[in-house]
Amino acid sequence: MPSLPLQVAEQALLDERRSLTRDEVRSVAALPFDELPDLIALAHKVRLTYCGADVELESLINAKSGACPEDCAFCSQSVKFDTGVDVYAYLDVDEVVEAARATRAAGATQFCIVVAVRGPSERLLNKVIETVDAVHAETGLEVACSLGLLTRPQAERLAAAGVRRYNHNLEAPREVFPSICTTHTYDDRVETAKLAIDAGMELCCGGILGMGETLDQRIDFAFELAELEPCEVPINFLLPSGTPLGEQRKITPREALQAIALFRLVLPSAWLRLAGGREYVLGELQGMGLLAGANALIVGNYLTTGGRAPEEDHALLEALGMPVADGPGEGRFVIDATGTHNLPARPVRSTIPVTSA
Ligand code: SF4
Repeated sequence: MPSLPLQVAEQALLDERRSLTRDEVRSVAALPFDELPDLIALAHKVRLTYCGADVELESLINAKSGACPEDCAFCSQSVKFDTGVDVYAYLDVDEVVEAARATRAAGATQFCIVVAVRGPSERLLNKVIETVDAVHAETGLEVACSLGLLTRPQAERLAAAGVRRYNHNLEAPREVFPSICTTHTYDDRVETAKLAIDAGMELCCGGILGMGETLDQRIDFAFELAELEPCEVPINFLLPSGTPLGEQRKITPREALQAIALFRLVLPSAWLRLAGGREYVLGELQGMGLLAGANALIVGNYLTTGGRAPEEDHALLEALGMPVADGPGEGRFVIDATGTHNLPARPVRSTIPVTSA
């Protein structure tokens, strides 16, 4: 029988349908790794209950790489670090559309346009919106954007252009953030996340694990994210990439699985997406990540590193009996015959408000 903290968590999430307190999550996190299989089993049950078996697949394109003026210590695209990353200006619209076609061919339903900037200039924003229109017209894919810090009018323009989801990660726990970035603040990030929601876009907001945070801080991070009620939470794992954080101890697969499961308990109804570093950290245990609460993947390449072939992920999902999310509905998007973007109905899945203790 699972130990008491897991029984309490199961009763709260599955019977009472209430969110867990921080202390309850800390009690679960304090269990020895011997009990990790029980935690994983609970996280999977919570995922199935709140989200079902579907797995959402997304591809992204790094549409403008490197030379970012910010100093995020994990990021190979910062101009402050000599990382050897590719540096190029915003790609031609045709190149991005071609990548979107490849995304569709790879079986993904969502395509994210990412640029390495502090925030978009008006010229860049115009270019991105032109690209969004072209991707919609040519592929019918749901489009997400990740363009850094936004002003309110910029967020509104993106929403009006049919951008379904906006990615803006908090990156790290509030307590840790000042030690990894000095050129903007945690509250700057929170502000943009809120602006995206206010403008009518879904919020994709997560971060990077393994940047020296403690387990307690990792739990705090999950609660800080939950306060924003993101539709999607990408979980990245730190990769060594020539940045100041490159020498950090690599997070172990068991720590990674524990973190994924804890995030699922705190964010029961979010798309929890395994993103950059999943191959590096989880290795052969990537399937376990999808049994530990994750229900979304980035397929294909990441921003500055290569991923594995999409066929391998499709084979994994088939082996696990997890269908690829498809068709209209929450987390998916279909352009209608007139090319009109239907803003999403708010979540059809069960949600519970998450409050911190
Ligand atoms: S703002 Fe984004 S692209 Fe720029 S250094 Fe930070 S994480 Fe990298």
